[in-house]
Amino acid sequence: MALSLFQNFCILVAIISIILEFVRSSKIQYNSPHIRRFVLGTLGGLIGILLLMSTVPINPQRTIIFDFRFVVMYLSAMYGGFTSSIITSLIIAFYRLSVTGADTIALIVSTSILICGFLIGALSHVKASREKKFLMMNSIVVLSIIIASYLIFDDFILFVLNSLLFTSTTVITSYFICRYIHYTMANIRNYWQLKIDATTDHLTELANAREFENRLEQLFEECRQSDLPISFLMLDLDHFKLINDTYGHQKGDEVLSELAQILIKSCRSHDLVARIGGEEFAIVLPHCPRETALKIARRIRQQIEDHIFCDESSEIRMTVSIGVSSAPYDTDESDKLKRKADQALYRAKDNGRNSVMLAQ
Ligand code: GH3
Ligand code: MG
Ligand code: MG
Repeated sequence: MALSLFQNFCILVAIISIILEFVRSSKIQYNSPHIRRFVLGTLGGLIGILLLMSTVPINPQRTIIFDFRFVVMYLSAMYGGFTSSIITSLIIAFYRLSVTGADTIALIVSTSILICGFLIGALSHVKASREKKFLMMNSIVVLSIIIASYLIFDDFILFVLNSLLFTSTTVITSYFICRYIHYTMANIRNYWQLKIDATTDHLTELANAREFENRLEQLFEECRQSDLPISFLMLDLDHFKLINDTYGHQKGDEVLSELAQILIKSCRSHDLVARIGGEEFAIVLPHCPRETALKIARRIRQQIEDHIFCDESSEIRMTVSIGVSSAPYDTDESDKLKRKADQALYRAKDNGRNSVMLAQ
């Protein structure tokens, strides 16, 4: 019996761990909270069915059975709210009815599951601390287990045994699983925050130099393998030091942020825009031939020249010099692609700035 109980517990923990790992690696984001509640509710219901399928008979007559279905219901209400709790309890209750048919016991159990799901779902929206909610919800769970056991068992010993077993293990397990989910979710959030910090430039929110190097290699390889062109723009603001000297470092920062927005708007969603130095930016254009890259670079240069930065009273104007290189036209190595764009940028600077030069 202990082994079967442990098995039921392991099913629960294993599924929760798989879901958490899935959340960690895919960073699922549900724009609609309704979809999130629906998914959580359905998942809860399916886990409940799995637990019921491997339910543990406690006595030889199989009148007392045990599983962790109430833990799943509690989790569904805690993390998905009312809708999720109702969906989970509906699925579990219907499955319970379908197993033995609508006999008296199945009807009592299913009704208690539905009422419990309704009440803990409603409680999940009460404004209270996590600990208080845990206590309130588990009190409901315990109460519904006791009432259902009272109605099912004529034998007092069986009633006490069933109530004790279900309530104690459900409360203890939901406490530890809730803690486990809580800490794992905190770790997942930290993991994603660190990942964002490590790959994003804090001022402009563009990709930073490290991310740029990694992604360039990746994009270059993808284009090479599929015989598609890839182009590279290296941009450097002209006389940017003057902006800092004239308007201050703060305004300089604002100019850099605004410029990043212009670059993002000028590119396609799958282009890579990065800040690779103080006032130096790089744009990788996959599947983009040299002539198109030249047109894009000229358009960006014109947009920046026409743009009034910061506020109209200060009328900060900027210009940019751009070097353009392309693979396979200029080179078939990613390192050379950068070097050639850099050399073209130097020529643009030598040429009087505010210009676009192609690699030679
Ligand atoms: P050039 O046309 O030759 O590129 O002239 P420049 O003044 O743009 O180039 P230079 O390399 O002489 O100066 C770059 C300036 O960029 C110097 C530095 O103060 C400024 N800078 C670098 N990073 C930041 C930053 O994060 N914020 C601000 N406000 N300024 C920065
Ligand atoms: Mg500069
Ligand atoms: Mg520079």
